[in-house]
Amino acid sequence: MKIAIIGTGYVGLPTGVGLAELGNEVVCVDKAEAKIEALNAGKLTLYEDGLEDLFKKNVASGRLGFTLDMKSAVRGADVVMIAVGTPPHPFTKEADMKYIHAAAYELAEYLDGYTVVATKSTVPVGTGDEVEAIIRKVNPEAEFDVISLPEFLREGFAIHDFFNPDRIVIGANSERARRVMLELYKPFDGKTEFLLVNRKSSETIKYASNAFLAMKIHYINEMADFCEKTGADVREVARGLGLDSRIGKKFLNPGPGYGGSCFPKDTNAMAQMGKKYGVHLNLIETTIAKNDERKAMMAKRILDRLENRSEGRVAVLGLAFKGGTDDCRESPAMDIVKDILHENRNVCVYDPKAMGNAKGILTEKVTYAEDAYQACEGAEVVAILTEWDEFRKLDLSKLKAKVKAPKIVDLRNILDAEEARKNGFDYYCIGQAC
Ligand code: NAD
Repeated sequence: MKIAIIGTGYVGLPTGVGLAELGNEVVCVDKAEAKIEALNAGKLTLYEDGLEDLFKKNVASGRLGFTLDMKSAVRGADVVMIAVGTPPHPFTKEADMKYIHAAAYELAEYLDGYTVVATKSTVPVGTGDEVEAIIRKVNPEAEFDVISLPEFLREGFAIHDFFNPDRIVIGANSERARRVMLELYKPFDGKTEFLLVNRKSSETIKYASNAFLAMKIHYINEMADFCEKTGADVREVARGLGLDSRIGKKFLNPGPGYGGSCFPKDTNAMAQMGKKYGVHLNLIETTIAKNDERKAMMAKRILDRLENRSEGRVAVLGLAFKGGTDDCRESPAMDIVKDILHENRNVCVYDPKAMGNAKGILTEKVTYAEDAYQACEGAEVVAILTEWDEFRKLDLSKLKAKVKAPKIVDLRNILDAEEARKNGFDYYCIGQAC
């Protein structure tokens, strides 16, 4: 099939690469000239495990291309996927629909022949109706259906998740559109569950899923606080919880709070939708407030380990919102570093992949190190904020020789407490009485 993907970011790019690998002809279109230029020069614009090889292979085969030109991408496409951003509105915290609306206006005039317009972006309930109305207004003759095709990939695992989805949700009110999508996703027949639902249910499934996962993270963080007071160990508690098949093992790792480009914005958008429809979404609202508080609480936890809060050097290991990605959007590490900088100007940071993105967010004075050991030179406290494997494998005796005071605050519980203490560190983690 011929596919056009509008928006070549964390969702659009892996989706385009994956669909090309399945044998489709894919053109990814974006407004960002630098992005398209880089991709056309064979350079990836974001980091995802396994993406590079497939990207190169499919570009070489001629099945995958990149353009700034909406017309050439959309003309003749069987399916046009909208994968542009839906960031939080700066004041209302609702999903800002300006990119979705603009994409709908721009693509509408180039539709020719029957086309399925699929919204991959995470959008409020009722967006399908809006996109449909825009296209109808711009191009009354167009033969098309608008469907909701929510994306569930996890950053850092985008390629894995593309080829191994838990489910494929197709929110279509038309049988014809459903048939096209079942044809496109035929390679997944028998490998995953297909959910054919109405468009509004599909739009809701995405928000309900992300809000649930955010609540699960908040829940285990709350349990971690409880364990710290009682002497229980949250890792043991999480294991006990997770083995209950009704609960499940995933998303039970306590930490500095959830972040990333999805959970914070989607929980906020969901809470605002609740208000709009007169339904008070208490659990979600509490989760949002407590997650915000948690980041400040974690910064305090790090500063409390300094002899003098305004002087000692702090080493921060990890800036991305989670391991396996270079994405720093809404990363708890960004807020925590900013909070530390507020009291203490002496912070040195390191992340294996996310330094470039962090530089765009941390405008305050921060020192950037070349590696974890350099970041820790002269540090009075080492804070681990992202669960990179590289930090799991730190040579603690080498690290000990670099620091000024041997204190580690491990906000991801990735080090072995006994090993850290054996190497002479005061070790503080989450959810255990330290
Ligand atoms: P992104 O910011 O990485 O990428 C969006 C891209 O769209 C940008 O490159 C931007 O230049 C481009 N764009 C905007 N308007 C355009 C237009 N009119 N024409 C062409 N290009 C345009 O965003 P993302 O992280 O890929 O997220 C996209 C959507 O997918 C969001 O709604 C997000 O909530 C949802 N989502 C994201 C993830 C994730 O892990 N990042 C997972 C599931 C769903």
